Amino acid sequence: MFEVAVLTARDNVDLLVKQALEFIPSFVVITNELKFREVSDALKGLPTKVFSGENMLVEIVQKKEIDLVLSALVGFAGLYPTLAALGAGKDIAIANKETLVVGGEMVIHLAKENGCAVYPVDSEHSAIFQCLAGEENNPVEKIILTASGGPFRGMKKEQLARVTRKEALNHPNWCMGEKVTIDSASLMNKGLEIIEARWLFDLDPQQIEVVVHPQSIIHSIVQFHDGSMKAQMGLPDMRLPIQYALGYPKRLENSFPRFSFAEYPQLSFEKPDTETFRNLELAYYALKRGGNIPCILNAANEVAVQAFLEEKIGFLRIPEIIEEVMSMGNFIQQPTMDDYRETDKLARQMAGEMI
Ligand code: MG
Repeated sequence: MFEVAVLTARDNVDLLVKQALEFIPSFVVITNELKFREVSDALKGLPTKVFSGENMLVEIVQKKEIDLVLSALVGFAGLYPTLAALGAGKDIAIANKETLVVGGEMVIHLAKENGCAVYPVDSEHSAIFQCLAGEENNPVEKIILTASGGPFRGMKKEQLARVTRKEALNHPNWCMGEKVTIDSASLMNKGLEIIEARWLFDLDPQQIEVVVHPQSIIHSIVQFHDGSMKAQMGLPDMRLPIQYALGYPKRLENSFPRFSFAEYPQLSFEKPDTETFRNLELAYYALKRGGNIPCILNAANEVAVQAFLEEKIGFLRIPEIIEEVMSMGNFIQQPTMDDYRETDKLARQMAGEMI
């Protein structure tokens, strides 16, 4: 039912080759040029054409073989290929939240202009999207994004000061990449998600709330203007939101494990501790301020998280660096693409100098 036309990766040759051998796509891109030989040797004899280089992504997403692009790069790097795909009239399934955090206004505008759909893959946004199905003319009062609270939920600052890289990567419910797992532990993930939701669902900042729900069974909630709430629930399994985005509007049958109330006798909820986990508040500030401020927030966070992963800074330095860079950055109300590029570069420099 699906045909894979293009597969891309940055460094992960093994997985790219394994998937290319299984799906025989028309094109493969390994953006790290040093690994081109390795990939093309491994795929010798296949009809698949192999390319390399960062710029190739922007070109390849426009190929006529493609109906839908799954944008799942990590970080700001996802913005250009996503805009290029929309420019070529492709529908997008978006897993790369940083693209919407930085350039949400541009992305949504371009999608509308070209009649392209943008399907959320992030589990919370998929949940909202599912709750809104069939409710097109019913005004939304607010949405509530659920957060697991990550591995450090309940900790205070003194404890957070001592947490290690390994502890931060040990997420209680979700199996995800390193960047998003650290963002989860620091609550920046939820911060990026409120900004993502603002663009995906055209909401005002005060319509977006966050509740901590440690079991990650309710994936998010919509409250309509009659006060009625709809929630989407299920086991935390990323295959579901991915499948919903690819299959929309159909629900495709699968045999993934099912949720059972007997195994979860208690679902609990609590207010996020933004005093200890500063990132969520910084993200709300960026959301309300708008312009290029979310771009600064994102760039500083990417640099700080990388430094934490390399064990150059402690966990509590992450929000400190972000806050400092945000306070120093130049505010631009209506940024152009060049402004975003420049803002991203400068914010990275500033954050880098603090490490
Ligand atoms: Mg999420």
